[in-house]
Amino acid sequence: MNSPKIVRIDLHKINLDFITPFKIALGEARRGEGIAVRIFTDIGITGLGEGSPYWFIAGETQAISFEASKAIATLLLGKNPLEIESRLNEIDAFIVHNSTTKSAFDIALYDILAKHAGLPLYALLGGQNREIITDFTIGIDTPQKMAQKALEYVSEGACSLKVKLGTNHDDDVRRIQAIREAVGMELSIQLDANQGWDTVTAISTLQDLAKYKINFCEEPVAHWNNKALKRVHELSPIPIMADESIFDHHDALRLAEMGACDYFNIKLAKSGGIHTGLKINAIGEAAGIPCMVGGMFETRVGISAGAHLIAARSNIIFADLDTVHHYAEDPVIGGAVFDGCKVSIPETPGHGADFDPLFLNKMEKITIE
Ligand code: MG
Repeated sequence: MNSPKIVRIDLHKINLDFITPFKIALGEARRGEGIAVRIFTDIGITGLGEGSPYWFIAGETQAISFEASKAIATLLLGKNPLEIESRLNEIDAFIVHNSTTKSAFDIALYDILAKHAGLPLYALLGGQNREIITDFTIGIDTPQKMAQKALEYVSEGACSLKVKLGTNHDDDVRRIQAIREAVGMELSIQLDANQGWDTVTAISTLQDLAKYKINFCEEPVAHWNNKALKRVHELSPIPIMADESIFDHHDALRLAEMGACDYFNIKLAKSGGIHTGLKINAIGEAAGIPCMVGGMFETRVGISAGAHLIAARSNIIFADLDTVHHYAEDPVIGGAVFDGCKVSIPETPGHGADFDPLFLNKMEKITIE
């Protein structure tokens, strides 16, 4: 086989306004500021990836990510895009951390590999195109406004709600009480404290919230405090999911060995893409830890890649793909389709999603060739 080569890489800044600001325990986001990476090959196949840098979590901004992308793009020119492991190892050796930037390149490389094979990405990974049900996420606000939002999401077809908490015990309990009073006890609810509690507050709050029938709670305490996570996990009647405390497979192995949580939240922006996302899931599967795939503030490009990963592995049992609901505008053609809480994946080769050229032409761009 003649080796295809990377001949050009286009980098775009992706700027999109939110409908309303979105608040979590770590801070408030007002707009999406992502990056897009398009890799061109000498065999006519292109691959597209997206990264959604989120300062609070991965330490990257759009500006940092754009600069890092220029250097990574230069590193990849002239090389074979199908040798994904080698390319990703080169990138890892070249630049430490920067997982969100790396994820944009990883997704673009997998897009090329799947298109080269003539397969949808989930099929390339050996998966099955199954039904995916995503949650709807409610940001931190007053209990009344959060209950109102819950009702709004139910009317839009929500099958499960993810509720952001993490301010203090009393307000957080009032929030869930108000939401349960509004939507009843049937609807599935999960929590995300985004590291907002200390250990004692986490334990007491989760114990007091158990009567509201909660599926699980993400990241109750500081991301670095794995021992506290384990202690909360042992004393909480509500199952615990690791999110900010797990970026890659090394974190997954450590948390699994410690018995620190019930679930892993894989995000491509944390894992550096699909390659390591698969490794995290494999560790989870071996340790009896089911996974979720979530997102930062990706458009349907990044979210489509995440949906393919979910369809590729049966150990990934939860989907948190509703980031696209933050935006008034959908600048993406093709890719995963949202119908209420249902997310379906197209049978087109690759991940199937692309930016509308009319949208992309308005964004800042640089070409590396
Ligand atoms: Mg989370």
